[in-house]
Amino acid sequence: MKVYNFSAGPSIMFKEVLQQAQNEMLDYNNSGMSVVEMSHRTKTFDAIIKEAESLLRELMRIPDNYTVIFAQGGACTQFDAIPLNLLNKYKKADYLDTGNFAHKAMEACARYGVANCVASSRADNYTYIPKVKREDFSIDADYTYYTSNNTIFGTRFNYVPDAPTNLVCDMSSEILSREVDVSKYGVIYAGAQKNISAAGVTIIIVRNDLIGHALNICPIMLDYSTFAKNGSMYNTPPTYAIYLAMLTLRHLKKIGGIPHINAINEAKAKKLYDFIDASDFYTNKVNKEDRSIMNVPFVCPNGDLDAKFIQESLACGLVSLKGHRLVGGMRASIYNAMPMEGVDTLIDFMKKFELENK
Ligand code: PMP
Repeated sequence: MKVYNFSAGPSIMFKEVLQQAQNEMLDYNNSGMSVVEMSHRTKTFDAIIKEAESLLRELMRIPDNYTVIFAQGGACTQFDAIPLNLLNKYKKADYLDTGNFAHKAMEACARYGVANCVASSRADNYTYIPKVKREDFSIDADYTYYTSNNTIFGTRFNYVPDAPTNLVCDMSSEILSREVDVSKYGVIYAGAQKNISAAGVTIIIVRNDLIGHALNICPIMLDYSTFAKNGSMYNTPPTYAIYLAMLTLRHLKKIGGIPHINAINEAKAKKLYDFIDASDFYTNKVNKEDRSIMNVPFVCPNGDLDAKFIQESLACGLVSLKGHRLVGGMRASIYNAMPMEGVDTLIDFMKKFELENK
């Protein structure tokens, strides 16, 4: 049976990438060994990490005054790493509380300084993105933090916050899905297990002047300067996840880069939202203009039907559609690698389910 994987992460990868990895599994580039087995100090692996970085720079048009870091610990580790690296002058940072991960990041910051919540949609279960203006932000903050796409709640920022301090963004669930002007940011970071690679590597893009000013209590392995000075190889990096990232980036470049994939993403999301909006059976509770094009939550008229939907869709090869426990219902994660046919198949199933259960 053909399976479409709608998981929020780890999630679907491009088939071409997995096939390439399969072809090279036992013998990478005539090295006589798998990338899994290879020392990170070899020339062969060095070429892999360098190619991954240079492709990322090219695709995201990352300016030269930024360093690209490949770290471990998942995106959550950055919730601490960010204040530990940046909270060095005012000991205060502004946070936009637009989801559970943003909230956790704000809680982590409060361990080291003042975590100032500028705006929050928590009271409305994060169904919208607050509109924040320049005058709402602090001038005396070390940085302004936000999460551009809220994986659990299916919202995304349709604007870049006009903050007067260094902008820090968690792009875990949307990196490489739409174009970003990197020069507007101090730090961009993303766990890889949605649009980039397998779980295990976190990519951090940091402006060079923000490196080297970590707090004394910052662990060596969270200090961006440790990574910058050692080309992300102070210790053993997550080699295989970096290799898979390189393959994904190569593939993205080949098919036309971010503008190309963004057009497909917009078309996929539009089709699904248009269908949901036209139906009086399914509902998406998110404020329309704040809807994510990566994560689409929806519900049936009642919880029993949601449970039935999840069970029956699974039997049809539509996998991991169960919504996050904080939202309930269903969530279709339609990341870069989800083909249009996956969305079409989901909509066909939704039509059939509606007819049978109305
Ligand atoms: N931020 C966002 C936006 C996420 O979606 C996630 C994971 N789903 C995280 C942070 C946490 O990532 P990790 O599990 O890699 O720590």
